[in-house]
Amino acid sequence: MKPRVAFFDFTGCEGCQLDALNLDGEQLLDLLAAVDIVNFREVMTERSDNYDIAFIEGSISRESEIGRLQKIRDQAKVLVALGACACIGGINCLKNHVPMEEALRTVYGEDARYYDTIPARPANAVVTVDYYVRGCPPQPAELIKVVKALLLNKKPDIPGYVECKMAGNVCVFERGMTCLGPVTRAGCGAICVNSGRICWGCRGLVDEPNINSEKDILKKYGLTVDQVVEKFKIYDTFAEVTK
Ligand code: SF4
Repeated sequence: MKPRVAFFDFTGCEGCQLDALNLDGEQLLDLLAAVDIVNFREVMTERSDNYDIAFIEGSISRESEIGRLQKIRDQAKVLVALGACACIGGINCLKNHVPMEEALRTVYGEDARYYDTIPARPANAVVTVDYYVRGCPPQPAELIKVVKALLLNKKPDIPGYVECKMAGNVCVFERGMTCLGPVTRAGCGAICVNSGRICWGCRGLVDEPNINSEKDILKKYGLTVDQVVEKFKIYDTFAEVTK
């Protein structure tokens, strides 16, 4: 029997789920041959609470989402956080810097009283997460890699090195900009830097960043630690406000 897979959306833009649907034809067919998708609101009306693997998209930003995620965790044998919002909190955590009433009022104005909100958090702040598919949105190829690994009961092979130099890019710092690439988890193939942009750290901070090396880089280019930390606020605010 094929593993039953379910996709669930919490607070997010649903770009991660769209990205999963953007797998190229062959990859999508391979995926559908390997698993039974039993729950995926964006593409099917059928629903089943009988699943083995749950993909979680979005961060947890309402009280009701805590219980919902815990129920999914109880049911799923394997739980995968899909995308920056679910893996590290993502851009929703920007609101954690202001009182929740203010966040509600800013978004909903006079109707704020009809809504509830709590500080946004990643899935692993509520339940145990088994696997992570990082990025905003994640790379389809990485999603396939993680699915294959979990079907084989193996650890996904995600690169641990910074990929921008290997792709032949001139360092972003040499172009007069700041970049989070040196301290961000690899695995995206340096997609933003390859397109002439900077790395905003959507995959989160590496486990053991080489702080001294990063400081040397900043010193070399006349930058301060604060200038770089400011950039992490886009995606990794949860880590910052909880440390
Ligand atoms: Fe949208 Fe990015 Fe969050 Fe995915 S990680 S839901 S693409 S904001």
